[in-house]
Amino acid sequence: MFPASDLLKLIKEKAQDPTAESVVTEGSAILILDQHPAPVLPAGTPGTIFDIEPRTRPRGTRIDVNALEEGDQQAARSRHGRGQGVLLSAHVMALLDLDGHQSLQVLGERQADRFRESALHADVDFRSRAEAYLERIGEDEAERRADAAASPSIFEHPREDCPVCCYETFQVDGYDLWGRVGHGQCLVCAYARSPDAADDEGFAAHLASLDSSPAPTCPRVQHKAVAEAQPGSPSPGRGDGNR
Ligand SMILES: [Zn+2]
Repeated sequence: MFPASDLLKLIKEKAQDPTAESVVTEGSAILILDQHPAPVLPAGTPGTIFDIEPRTRPRGTRIDVNALEEGDQQAARSRHGRGQGVLLSAHVMALLDLDGHQSLQVLGERQADRFRESALHADVDFRSRAEAYLERIGEDEAERRADAAASPSIFEHPREDCPVCCYETFQVDGYDLWGRVGHGQCLVCAYARSPDAADDEGFAAHLASLDSSPAPTCPRVQHKAVAEAQPGSPSPGRGDGNR
């Protein structure tokens, strides 16, 4: 693998090459210009709501070689057991700037993966807490709450079937990127689905929509149906599924 120090040395050499037309220096940093820079939008009509100062767009990838070299040296101290390195925000910002180059863009993806994993872990936690809460309040109280929540929603979005208690009491606050899965909170068991978890489920639902298999049933309804199909099981009550 190419060591970071060698890569930075190569970038410095390339930047000093007079024939390199797409590289300019900007203060202490090197700027690799985009081949097709984004157009700068004109200012809006003065005195209207469109009278906004247009944002300056980056012209390319900014490489602060000094900050990157320093950050690499600091990281190397810990990496090679030579003490504790100290990374400053300037080092991290320089790394993020470098990662903006179209041939890299790894850090953003890693960060998105971390956000997704964290949202999924939180969702598992929310579900198990809602299940425990549902167990604690019991069927009668759950049904009473479902009845109380049966009045028309005063919120912008409708209520949907809750994936934990299966009552139609999951108050949607908004939807995922595909408009398939809502985020919000259940008025019976308090299960809360975050926007990130909704995005993840929405993507899975989008993929499932490409398949012709029937939609899955709420796990609690499946469990009850199996129990009731067995001899000696109690008859189903009102709160036994989607209503
Ligand atoms: Zn619920």
